[in-house]
Amino acid sequence: MASPTFTPAEQDEATALLQELIRLDTSNPPGNEAAAIALLERRCREIGLDTVVAGAHPERPNLVATFAADPARRSGRPLVLSCHVDCVPADPARWTHSPWSGHHDGVHLWGRGAVDMKGFAAMAFAVVAKLKREAVPIRRDLLFVAVSDEEAGTRFGSKWLVEERPELLGSPEYVINEVGGFTVHRDGHRFHPVQVAEKGVAWLRLAVQGRPGHSSLPSRDNAVSRLARAIDALARARLPWHPSEEARRFLAGFAKPRGPLAEKVADLLAHPLAGPILLPLLVREPSRRASIEAVLRNTATPTSLGGGGNINVLPGFASVDIDGRLAPGQTTDDLVLELEEVIRPVLRRDYELTVLQESPPVSFSTDTPLYREIERSLREADPEGHTVPAIIPGFTDSRNYARLGAQCYGFYPLRLPEDLDFAALFHGDDERIPVAGFHWGMEVLAGMLRNFLTES
Ligand SMILES: [Zn+2]
Repeated sequence: MASPTFTPAEQDEATALLQELIRLDTSNPPGNEAAAIALLERRCREIGLDTVVAGAHPERPNLVATFAADPARRSGRPLVLSCHVDCVPADPARWTHSPWSGHHDGVHLWGRGAVDMKGFAAMAFAVVAKLKREAVPIRRDLLFVAVSDEEAGTRFGSKWLVEERPELLGSPEYVINEVGGFTVHRDGHRFHPVQVAEKGVAWLRLAVQGRPGHSSLPSRDNAVSRLARAIDALARARLPWHPSEEARRFLAGFAKPRGPLAEKVADLLAHPLAGPILLPLLVREPSRRASIEAVLRNTATPTSLGGGGNINVLPGFASVDIDGRLAPGQTTDDLVLELEEVIRPVLRRDYELTVLQESPPVSFSTDTPLYREIERSLREADPEGHTVPAIIPGFTDSRNYARLGAQCYGFYPLRLPEDLDFAALFHGDDERIPVAGFHWGMEVLAGMLRNFLTES
């Protein structure tokens, strides 16, 4: 990597900001993001950015801070660095150090949000501050955006911003956001997935009717028993493969450095007929199998039950909520048809499958100057590493920014050691971030933006 940009004092400043953010409990629900947004706004003003705080609710604000390009040099639409400041709840009893401690043990900084994603808030702020202090002659506006409410669905956060105050974001051409840029170690190779696609969401409810009556006289028509049979069928169902271009590129990216045989296997796994049969034979490790499967097909996971109130009454109704996720190119209707094929033979009648909430899958181009600059910066920082355009089964704020026509990339660079189970830290116990890897990420992001923003 090129000579370091950040001084040790600047690195410590970024670590301290992350610590401060972790110590503000923004568990969502309920969120309470106001203090974290206020802290970031203060910091942005101190370095001379223009700031706007806006939201649907005073306790759920969002921050847009702008480092404006000189109009005489401006050549493109804004680039947004986006982070959410809320995090999922944590049970302190299960943690080695309190989730709100920001404890620094010399190697890791501990706390809920350290990874997801207060770490990026601190990193992105440090980078913007550096570019601003050095008056780097940027050619498009650089926006630092911090939002509320990502973890509970984005309603008060990026969704609200995009729907109610899109002018604050200035029609961005690019958004850099979470889930990508970190190191993945596999079979002796290092990979850097950069997120370029997200699966869609189709949250559904399956409601089953039954005949109410006294439960001392059991009946086959019991709504709860019928629903249980349908849930069992859903759990056993293997929905068909939909191998998208995005999924193929993702699998191929991880296979390529491991040689022609691995490439052939990746090809076979994506095959709509062979893939489902070969996957359990070729990939033994369950979590790896699940993550490959998730990018190749729609999924439908029963999560929450409703209906029945009394132990001695046959309920007239029982329901289950189903977390459906759509592969690229798939729609909610496609998933509903697939589920009907599973449910209908079991229930036959007196049931209803309704859509609670949906948003389509999103994909972004890898054929852009920014994506190429991201690749170049990773290659420079880790010449033996491999950048892979990745698809994630979950969603981020990017699904909302996509509606503004922005190309969104998950690029939150972190150098991670091989023995850290990074995926388990997202929403898991003992969430912590390796401080050296975090500082490495600051360098990569700063170098990438310095090049990109002064050239295009
Ligand atoms: Zn997140």
